[in-house]
Amino acid sequence: MLNYSRAYKKLLYLFFLIFLVYQWLAAHPINAPKVQIIKDPVIILDPGHGGNNPGAKGSSNLEKDINLQFAYRIKKLLLYHLPKVKVILTREVDTFLSLDKRAEIANLNKADLFISLHCNSNNTGIVRGAEVYIMGNHKSDEHLELSLREYYEDNEHDHSASLTGDEGMDFIFLNQIQSNIISESIDFGKSLVELLNQEHPAGCRPLRQAGFKVLWRATMPSVLIELGYINNIQDEKFLSSTEGQIIISQSIVESIKNFLSVRSEEIQTASIPLPLNK
Ligand SMILES: [Zn+2]
Repeated sequence: MLNYSRAYKKLLYLFFLIFLVYQWLAAHPINAPKVQIIKDPVIILDPGHGGNNPGAKGSSNLEKDINLQFAYRIKKLLLYHLPKVKVILTREVDTFLSLDKRAEIANLNKADLFISLHCNSNNTGIVRGAEVYIMGNHKSDEHLELSLREYYEDNEHDHSASLTGDEGMDFIFLNQIQSNIISESIDFGKSLVELLNQEHPAGCRPLRQAGFKVLWRATMPSVLIELGYINNIQDEKFLSSTEGQIIISQSIVESIKNFLSVRSEEIQTASIPLPLNK
């Protein structure tokens, strides 16, 4: 009986010790991850195609024009709902822009989110509806190498450029960042799919992965939205109408708002006190 009592006391003591250690660790995080401080979020809207590259064709509309109209609508709505957000369009006019250049604009502006806007097309004219893509896994390794290369090139003359003081550790650190980028893209993509599925008259297919170059060269959470099938008569009518553009743009803006609020919560609850109040 006595032995049981002693064992019980020992166990209690052990739990108490674990509790104390846990409390101490919570108050003194060891090697707390560096959280990027984002003052004002930067959103990149990338209207696909342009200039001599019209993209897909409808009966009386070109994809490049619809994409640009959507970019303007989304920007206007975003600035109305979130005036602190900086919104950058990769192209503001009907001009050709390479895929590398589009991603470069996003990377140079240290964007928090990259959204490429497109319209789909197929040879039957029957298929309708929206689609959302994130970067495919098979491109992840190239993406990581690109992130590392861009990081070191950015800091070419800075000897303290290493994130951890050890390039091997930098690889692990950036690998973690890359996983976060993919998981944030997935979260944002899922929320987009959900809203577009409710609002698009032909719904939205489940989130897909694809190795679009414009996505894997962007080193931040990024998605590509196919707004609908421009060679389907009903989708073309909807996507070229003011009403249709507003409905879809509102869904996209709502998803961006969700994305930013989750992000700012994450930053505010991070172990490092941050001067953020978004
Ligand atoms: Zn396109």
